[in-house]
Amino acid sequence: MPKQKCPLCDGIAGCGGIDYGRKIQFKCSNCKVFVISYGRESEIGSLSEWKKQGFISQSQNCPEEYLLHITKNKEGKFDARCRLKSDFL
Ligand SMILES: [Zn+2]
Repeated sequence: MPKQKCPLCDGIAGCGGIDYGRKIQFKCSNCKVFVISYGRESEIGSLSEWKKQGFISQSQNCPEEYLLHITKNKEGKFDARCRLKSDFL
């Protein structure tokens, strides 16, 4: 798995394309596993620290077989929820 800067905590995360390259899955030792749309890393990275910290805690608290899916809603705001990992395979 290639390494990239984690958009949530700036640590080093493993990342890989999923969903035919439309999404990227990050595996970070701090933020656990989360998925974002392809190309949204810099947008996520420039969110407020408060917002990013919220996503990190949400991701850390997802149950074992779940990951955090971060999406942009109709209002253009980022939102996240725990989803089953198997939904993304
Ligand atoms: Zn991280």
